[in-house]
Amino acid sequence: MATPPTDDRRTTTAPATDDRFAVPLRGVAVDPETRCAHWDTAVDVVALRLSCCETYYPCDACHDAVTGHAAEPWPRDRFDEPAALCGACGATLSAREYLDGDSEGPSPSDSEGPSPSGNRASPGDSRTQSGDSEAQRAAGSRAKPDDACPRCDAGFNPGCRAHRDRYFEV
Ligand SMILES: [Zn+2]
Ligand SMILES: [Zn+2]
Ligand SMILES: [Zn+2]
Repeated sequence: MATPPTDDRRTTTAPATDDRFAVPLRGVAVDPETRCAHWDTAVDVVALRLSCCETYYPCDACHDAVTGHAAEPWPRDRFDEPAALCGACGATLSAREYLDGDSEGPSPSDSEGPSPSGNRASPGDSRTQSGDSEAQRAAGSRAKPDDACPRCDAGFNPGCRAHRDRYFEV
């Protein structure tokens, strides 16, 4: 596609979502890397999904500005589902990936808890493509910023850590 202008900012209110992104995303003055009217620095390039409306927002102030309901953080039992969008590379990260980006390595997938019988596959959402190689991960494993995209190493705002509980059930 053509290269979009970098100063293209949009405000998107419910029920419309922003067609620049592969996921449902709304906010106030959102730029192509998901910065918004409230968070506008070089590292504010992540949007988080809220479970109340299953939509991504650059921040909770965006959510409150463009919807009429209280924000609900992402529930713990859905931490393996995509809940964060990297505005730099466009990858969606599971809540676990996003939250564990800084701490110890990924634990082997021991599925905790009983899975409900009859696994409900969601056929519509086959966006997880094979772009994320182990080699890429290993290459980026030296002295990364504490908060960074595991796919493209874009730094995320470390200040987000202070209000994680607004976005994720802890
Ligand atoms: Zn909502
Ligand atoms: Zn915002
Ligand atoms: Zn990224």
